[in-house]
Amino acid sequence: MLSSRSDLETSLRYLRQIQFADLGAEGQKRLAEARALVCGCGALGTMVANHLVRAGVGFVRIVDRDLVDLSNLHRQCLFDEEDARRQLPKAVAAADKLQRINSEVRVEPIVADIRSDNIGELAQDVDLLVDGTDNFETRFLLNDYAIRQNVPWIFAACLGAQGQVMVVLPGETPCLRCLIPTLPPAGTLPTCETAGILGPVVGVVASLEAMEALKILAGRRDAVTHDLIVVNLWPVRLRQISLTSMRDPSCPTCVEQRFEFLEHRRESTSVALCGRKTVQVTPPEGRCDLDEIHKRWNALGEVERCPYFLRLRTPDWTLTLFPDGRALITGIDDPVLGRTIYARFVGM
Ligand SMILES: [Zn+2]
Repeated sequence: MLSSRSDLETSLRYLRQIQFADLGAEGQKRLAEARALVCGCGALGTMVANHLVRAGVGFVRIVDRDLVDLSNLHRQCLFDEEDARRQLPKAVAAADKLQRINSEVRVEPIVADIRSDNIGELAQDVDLLVDGTDNFETRFLLNDYAIRQNVPWIFAACLGAQGQVMVVLPGETPCLRCLIPTLPPAGTLPTCETAGILGPVVGVVASLEAMEALKILAGRRDAVTHDLIVVNLWPVRLRQISLTSMRDPSCPTCVEQRFEFLEHRRESTSVALCGRKTVQVTPPEGRCDLDEIHKRWNALGEVERCPYFLRLRTPDWTLTLFPDGRALITGIDDPVLGRTIYARFVGM
């Protein structure tokens, strides 16, 4: 029964959604009461947040450490040239746009790097964590938090024309570390900066992620997939891998309940070196194949290789990478920017 004009407008806004029987009016009501944390607001984060806010999820907190850049626009759907020109924080630019799309829900931007010392506060009052991050260290942290606090989370990643999605329902499904037991050492995985990325694959992966998020937030866990979904769009290949028997009986996180990322024992450090306009980034897992990274960097700027280090010069900063994974980034003094540059160009 619609009691006011505002109820009528709300009902009209979501009419096509409510008409989908598996969601229905009850699911829509639960979405309005639901709270989600979007972790990272780049390509995946903008698209997932866009879906959640348009669908009427009552509260969406967006956390991101980075600023909008012109090179983001081909795939990060909430940003425009003006945001890039003003170098706005991504969380703020996204929230501003989303709030204009749907003023009935609350969108809260937080400009921060998600770390072991703030995740408790960022995630304490939400029903779901959604992955929009750009590195495995943060994903392992999200996985630790989700398992310890018994909150569902959705892992997703994209690169080139490929991507993966996996829902983690603590106690029901395997966790991320059942599949990936140890943090890939820094520099071993390609990144969007070194391997490129195409916008449409982000759309597919983010849509899969958002659809599973809506099921969870609408109270329809029974409909959530227990498969790892692997998408490749060039050439096209879609795969579903059943996770039913994939729980690792010795998983450090969901079986042994050890939360080393959450407890700050496995975390990269990024510190400004006093008076040098230099930031030092040290990953938790050392060792870098400098020759391999050299190949990835060749198209990115002026690269210098010697037996002791690999160096990439750009107009704004110079990154010197050592075989143990440690990096010095000169030309900047913000440790959070240091982590961003490291995650993009070395990979963590
Ligand atoms: Zn596990």
